Amino acid sequence: TLYLYGCKDIIEEWYSYIKIYTIQNDFRMNYDFIKLTGKGAHAKVYKVYCKRDNQIYAVKVFKKKNINNKFGLFKEIQILRQLQHKNVIRLNEVYENAKHLYLILDYLAGGELLSAISQTEVYSETVVQELIQNLLIALDYIHQNKILHRDIKPQNLLLRSLNNITDLVIADFGLSDEYNCKGEYIFQKCGTIGYIAPEILRNEIYDYKVDIFSVGVIMFMLLTDSSPFDGKNTDEVITNNFYCKINFEQLTKSKISTHAYDFVKLLLEQNPNLRPTAQEALKHDWFYLPKMETLQFFSLSLKNIPLFNIKKRPQLQQILISQ
Ligand code: ADP
Ligand code: MG
Repeated sequence: TLYLYGCKDIIEEWYSYIKIYTIQNDFRMNYDFIKLTGKGAHAKVYKVYCKRDNQIYAVKVFKKKNINNKFGLFKEIQILRQLQHKNVIRLNEVYENAKHLYLILDYLAGGELLSAISQTEVYSETVVQELIQNLLIALDYIHQNKILHRDIKPQNLLLRSLNNITDLVIADFGLSDEYNCKGEYIFQKCGTIGYIAPEILRNEIYDYKVDIFSVGVIMFMLLTDSSPFDGKNTDEVITNNFYCKINFEQLTKSKISTHAYDFVKLLLEQNPNLRPTAQEALKHDWFYLPKMETLQFFSLSLKNIPLFNIKKRPQLQQILISQ
């Protein structure tokens, strides 16, 4: 049961769609703001203190007058209610008052994966492997529940703590939807340039594989300290992304294992039929390299340790294609 507090215009409209308890209550009565922790395209997120249970939470605040896609927000709540997984953000309560809508989420103290990787100098291939594995396990769960995320990127992957970048949580289901091969809604053009699967940009019919492509982009970034579609300007990034023109030279330069090279190439396969599902991807040899082999690989290439410096990575240009 999800408790929705302060039933007013928006929530009331949804009341017939979702089974919920609506209780007259005020967000400010139960929570104190601590600080702003993030800002996205649609909402502001704050760290808050809950006076009822003395716990820390995050609240995603939507200004009602800025909500131009009520149905999208309804979807976000509806989808978050269904998902219960340690690597997926948990929605606890929803509040509404005259001007705002508040989603009470678990607070992820480590912040965005993007800022973590920008602050740390080096990661080994083993760390990247664990991170990508956790991401694929969570995506497999989401996809098994017939949900597409559609905006997988390092800004939407949150960390429990800064000490461990592999312990991540998938957040921001603002562009997600249920997979319905007959529905038109699913084929909307949305996502973030630089991470988006080419079939979405090309207005083709698409499915769960779009999220796998974005995992490929993240893995590429982690291994090479650069992004696969980088260009001089936004247009160039869009063109590279559209034609799936990947800068493979960066991969060759970064001295990664053959298995890692093959795997990232597979995830970034432009034909979705040849790209693996999350479940198939999890069976790739890269995850099952015997430990010795990994150790050997590291010790053999001491001069060119497969480490990389994210600090030098140029900021990826991002455009959000709204629904
Ligand atoms: P938008 O849909 O506007 O992109 P997000 O859900 O992605 O909103 O949240 C925006 C930012 O707020 C995130 O990129 C992250 O930095 C921060 N944030 C979101 N949820 C949490 C959370 N549960 N704990 C900590 N920070 C969060
Ligand atoms: Mg976001």
